[in-house]
Amino acid sequence: MSQVTQNKQAGPVPMLDVNRGNQELREEILSALEAVVDSGRFLHGPEVAQLESQVSQVCSVRHSIGCASGSDALLLALMALDLGPGDEVIVPSFTFFATASCAWRLGCKIVFADILPQTFNVDPRSVEASITPRTRAIIPVHLFGQCARIEEICKIAQRREIPVIEDVAQAIGAAYHGRPAGTWGQMGCLSFYPTKNLGGFGDGGMLTTNIDTMADRLRLLASHGMRPRYYHQVVGINSRLDTLQAAVLSVKIRRLDDYTRARQQNAQRYYELFEQAHVQDSIALPICEPHARHVWNQYGIRVRDGRRDALKKYLQDEGIGCEVYYPVPLHQQQCFQSCGFPTGSLPQTELAAQEILNLPIYPELTEFEQERVVERIARFYRESYSRAAA
Ligand SMILES: *Cc1c(COP(=O)(O)O)cnc(C)c1O
Repeated sequence: MSQVTQNKQAGPVPMLDVNRGNQELREEILSALEAVVDSGRFLHGPEVAQLESQVSQVCSVRHSIGCASGSDALLLALMALDLGPGDEVIVPSFTFFATASCAWRLGCKIVFADILPQTFNVDPRSVEASITPRTRAIIPVHLFGQCARIEEICKIAQRREIPVIEDVAQAIGAAYHGRPAGTWGQMGCLSFYPTKNLGGFGDGGMLTTNIDTMADRLRLLASHGMRPRYYHQVVGINSRLDTLQAAVLSVKIRRLDDYTRARQQNAQRYYELFEQAHVQDSIALPICEPHARHVWNQYGIRVRDGRRDALKKYLQDEGIGCEVYYPVPLHQQQCFQSCGFPTGSLPQTELAAQEILNLPIYPELTEFEQERVVERIARFYRESYSRAAA
């Protein structure tokens, strides 16, 4: 074996390495941080307004409102709709916890919807079937970077005048029929958690909306309902995007298109590599919907032969990063047992939780690393077949 081939075969592949992207921008980010340190404006600095206008441009939306996290963005969106006890909120069960916990925190009833097996995104028919006279909001999630069938969901919601809040935490820059995620519903919720496509140096979030009065209300609610200073119109929360985070994100957002393109190229390469690996009997590759611009926050394969956990362990032992998003659907979480969705009630969600395996897809992942990921998966099956034959 030649030296080059040996190097290709060796070494771990991390699931995510945020340093690769950030190190390239080290000087630029440090000088942006330095400017904030020197200004002393750690809250409400000009960098926050700058990032808000950059996000408005990227998402083609009228208003962007910074807040402390994606979780807070979701909570603020429901608060802006004045939701509380007696109100029902429809959310997918196959998502991150924060999509549902915002409704719980306001005393709303959570109604879990099932997903489409092809994309892991919420099934519009399941959403429609979950609507009751008390439904006050629907929160579709653009999971893994691909838009849910948002046009259909918005049509269903519009007929009954139910507001739609898009969870865009994993999908900044995604679009459906060319229209950006976060502009279909009344509000969109973004996250800058470090693993997201636009990741900061800690927590951060943003809301997007085209409705002027909603933008105003969100700003009021995110600052303790205070206007003017020390006069509180309503009870809000304290949720701000730090100027330091905004300064970092303002540098990184200029590269968002490049990051997205790199993620798309990596996805394309996985398709090509898997095609040559002859594992299609066991592995189903992620499916792109024809109208969706996928920004690939995650590359989620399905292990259809019941051996997902064995494959995951094998890969991790080999130093190949992989993760299960999400191992326990929300309707099966201990804290949501009282919501009334027993095991078996959302079959596609429960099957996805057993089969999904997420592979590294971040922009700086190299071709050799991707080859190694796919080669190890192929080897897992070769070895198990030869064991079976022996
Ligand atoms: C990350 C994430 C959130 C929460 O964002 P934070 O900034 O971590 O609070 C909400 N929904 C989804 C789908 C997410 O992936």
